[in-house]
Amino acid sequence: MTRRTEHDVVIVGGGPAGLSAALFLLHHEPRLRGRLVVLERERYPRDKYCAGGVGGRAEMALARIGVTIDVPHVPCAGISLVLPKATIEGRARHIGRVVRRVEFDHALAQLARARGVRIEEGVKVLGVEAGPDGARVLTDTGELTTRVIVGADGVGSAVRKSLGFGAGAWRAQVLEVDTEQTRHDGPRDLMHFDVGDHGFNGYEWDFPTLVGGRAMVCRGVYHLVLPGHDAGEVDIARRLEDRLARFDLRLSDCKKKRYAERGFATHEPCSRPRALLIGEAAGVDPITGEGIAQAILYGELLAPYLVARLRSDELSFGDWPRVLLDSWLGWDMDTRDWLCRRFFGPARGWFEDNFARTPEGLEIGVQYFGGLRVDRVKALKVAYSVTRSWLANTGPSPLEAAVPAPRGAQGAPTA
Ligand SMILES: Cc1cc2nc3c(=O)[nH]c(=O)nc-3n(C[C@H](O)[C@H](O)[C@H](O)COP(=O)(O)OP(=O)(O)OC[C@H]3O[C@@H](n4cnc5c(N)ncnc54)[C@H](O)[C@@H]3O)c2cc1C
Repeated sequence: MTRRTEHDVVIVGGGPAGLSAALFLLHHEPRLRGRLVVLERERYPRDKYCAGGVGGRAEMALARIGVTIDVPHVPCAGISLVLPKATIEGRARHIGRVVRRVEFDHALAQLARARGVRIEEGVKVLGVEAGPDGARVLTDTGELTTRVIVGADGVGSAVRKSLGFGAGAWRAQVLEVDTEQTRHDGPRDLMHFDVGDHGFNGYEWDFPTLVGGRAMVCRGVYHLVLPGHDAGEVDIARRLEDRLARFDLRLSDCKKKRYAERGFATHEPCSRPRALLIGEAAGVDPITGEGIAQAILYGELLAPYLVARLRSDELSFGDWPRVLLDSWLGWDMDTRDWLCRRFFGPARGWFEDNFARTPEGLEIGVQYFGGLRVDRVKALKVAYSVTRSWLANTGPSPLEAAVPAPRGAQGAPTA
């Protein structure tokens, strides 16, 4: 049966980006209650393939509006990093936690509902139309009209496709499994990353996790497919199989969870009149695939901007990419995009040698991930060491990019 409903905001996707956007929007403009709806194609509790490592900075953002998500988790105090020539560790008191997305997203949805967010579950968006005169959302249960559409529907975003934005420059293939903990595993208060293998553009991980109250380890392979390359060039199942063998585990004994990710690329459009993208629909960290914190921070950034635009009825959103880039989140992702183009280039060894030589770099990264105050003395030490290494470098230039940035500025109007 076809329905026609007038909304101010239709948010497509009830993951961390869509739900936090809804929460922050209602916080900034309580009158949106009843005029805002989140459409989610699944029903909670629904799983999302994800290792569940959430940086403390994201939970701090939610805490700013009084939201805390009480779910089973493994608290984390740092990161260990295997490099080709060294293994380093960065620690701080508490940098975040590892959650199960089936529980985390469900709890977030319940909190959003308790605060007055209307969530329609089991409603799949098939396509959208957006233009200066209005916006329509076509779902498998009918059609909605709205002033604004927020695309928060993740890597396979139907909103993104409908608006004609293409898949994006940075695409990754990810495969993960949950296994028993073994005697070869490192401390359970660290997230373990391994970038020791230059045979592909990515890394392997082992995160401590709790599955139904049982201490287990989520292990996986993240492979960034450089533009112009084919995802099939790297057999990530084979890599994970080899990795598991090092832990005396077999891939065939595990449930394989394979999924894609989209990285943020600075020059790509993410808005049209009456429609904008957030979370992984727009893009998250291309280097590591970290996306939960980014999704939540997108929601926090979007809310005051969108509330002001709804009030003034200026809904062209040509400046949304600029607003994003001018924000801390945008600066962070722009930097990661820049670094990603270079880290996976000819000077990868130079970056890794610097990390190994100055492990304070990882400590600063860990503090940043956790939303903690960054140690300035250590930051200066890293800057000094990197500058010296830069001047002394006789190998490939660290500025040489594996992938050149596309032409055009993201800040340009996209309509
Ligand atoms: C294997 C793997 C491991 C990862 N590990 C980590 C990690 O440890 N830490 C981290 O920070 N990030 C991790 N990520 C990335 C992280 O999972 C995502 O970046 C994050 O979930 C993005 O949040 P989102 O809200 O933008 O999108 P999603 O979480 O993907 O949410 C999108 C929502 O939209 C819904 N939806 C989709 N299409 C439609 C439609 N047509 N109609 C209605 N609803 C729709 C989906 O059902 C979903 O609920 C990992 C990703 C993968 C694949």
